[in-house]
Amino acid sequence: MTAGSDEKTVWPGKRVTVAGLGVSGIPAAKVLHGLGAQVTVVNGTDDERARAQAAELAAWAADQPGGDARLTVRLGDGDTLPEGTELVVTAPGWPPHKPLFQAAAAAGVEVWGDVELAWRLRGPGAAPWLAVTGTNGKTTTVRMLASILTAAGLRTAAVGNIGVSLLDAVLGEEAYDVLAVELSSYQLHWAPSLRAHSAAVLNLAPDHLEWHGSMEAYAAAKGRVYEGNTVACVYNVADKATEDLVRAADVEEGCRAIGFTLGTPGPSQLGLVDGILVDRAFVENRREQAQELAELADINPPAPHNIANALAAAALARAFGVPAAAVREGLRAFRPDPHRIERIDAIDGVTYVDDSKATNIHAAEASLAAYDPIVWIAGGLAKGEPFDEMVRRAADRLRGVVLIGRDRALIAEALARHAPQVPVVDLDRTDTGAMAAAVREAAALARPGDTVLLAPACASMDMFVNYNKRGEAFADAVRGLTAESA
Ligand code: ADP
Repeated sequence: MTAGSDEKTVWPGKRVTVAGLGVSGIPAAKVLHGLGAQVTVVNGTDDERARAQAAELAAWAADQPGGDARLTVRLGDGDTLPEGTELVVTAPGWPPHKPLFQAAAAAGVEVWGDVELAWRLRGPGAAPWLAVTGTNGKTTTVRMLASILTAAGLRTAAVGNIGVSLLDAVLGEEAYDVLAVELSSYQLHWAPSLRAHSAAVLNLAPDHLEWHGSMEAYAAAKGRVYEGNTVACVYNVADKATEDLVRAADVEEGCRAIGFTLGTPGPSQLGLVDGILVDRAFVENRREQAQELAELADINPPAPHNIANALAAAALARAFGVPAAAVREGLRAFRPDPHRIERIDAIDGVTYVDDSKATNIHAAEASLAAYDPIVWIAGGLAKGEPFDEMVRRAADRLRGVVLIGRDRALIAEALARHAPQVPVVDLDRTDTGAMAAAVREAAALARPGDTVLLAPACASMDMFVNYNKRGEAFADAVRGLTAESA
């Protein structure tokens, strides 16, 4: 890896504290060491894993020019600011109220996240960034965008919260024309000088509020993605909060607000007309003209929220000057990541869909809106928001519900209030094997033509290591049904 340079920062000898010994901290420490900085990595925990990582990092530094004299790792104290710190580079997950950051603010020391570091280190003539944030749909949209850009013959990668790390993309050997960048609210909070070519906020629902302190602070972090955009700020017409963020942003002269909608698009919008994705923004005469981009059948799978994601991806690609034909080709070539409304199988006329990634209410609501009738498998660790509205909206389409996990009573109560006619199987289990039982119960409730949908609306950690494992358990259980019926 060859380091680029932030022209304003003099790196040799600069005393930089890296907060967090993890997936972003270790690469950041290495890059900073490579630039000649005096690096101190601080980490709150001092367990076996942290010690192994620290030892590995020290061994790495010993082999580098400058050696390990320019690297210190301090375990067991993530709160005190090391003496003489001139810059803090933090892991994005560290919340802003931590004492380390208060100490940095008091000392007038800047704090950068991993994204800010990458942004500052990109070299002259670096590839512009097309950025995507939002509560849900980021990964899908960024992958669709990368697929469209690739179809247009551009050298690109899906980077940021997914795939290639931003530091690798910015400093690596590979040359890019443009980057499709997924950004979380945490990363945006810690990226004060980031200026994307164009950006989209897909939607905004309460999430991660403990970290940010309030909905306003969460929204403000998301809104940062629009700051300094040069060509387009892409917003969701159905989610006014996203449009408000565009209005509040300070953008470059001539930058346009572009909406995406599942309805008929107005001027400066992308939307749907008779099942066709059309562009009324990036055409010569947007009052009179519309450009066909793709058909619903080109989107995989064509669930409403996925169509919204495709329109947002198309808007960013079009803002970058991609021709219409590449939008269609890119969407056709796109394959969704696992556990995101993933069709597992159809057995006896019942379709089984894994949306384990629906870890919050907003996401589960979107996938519930995509099927009818549904046998819904839900539950896990609730995130504090009420389930009422989601249940009320889905009530008419529910054939039955199977509940698992620690906070299932909260969903059961909402069902009793808004869908008392819907049969509910309360499994009263949080062991890993509960998923197989849940799928068997769901299969018993389902009739031909129904969809059994795992959309938990909750985090998975009460029963599984993560949402991947939860989705795999679901798919295994569905395969178990096939074996039984064979
Ligand atoms: P993220 O990277 O933001 O977590 P993903 O693309 O991984 O988003 O999708 C996560 C989940 O969010 C999906 O499984 C689906 O349930 C839901 N989802 C995807 N796109 C949207 C959207 N545009 N609006 C609401 N929910 C969505």
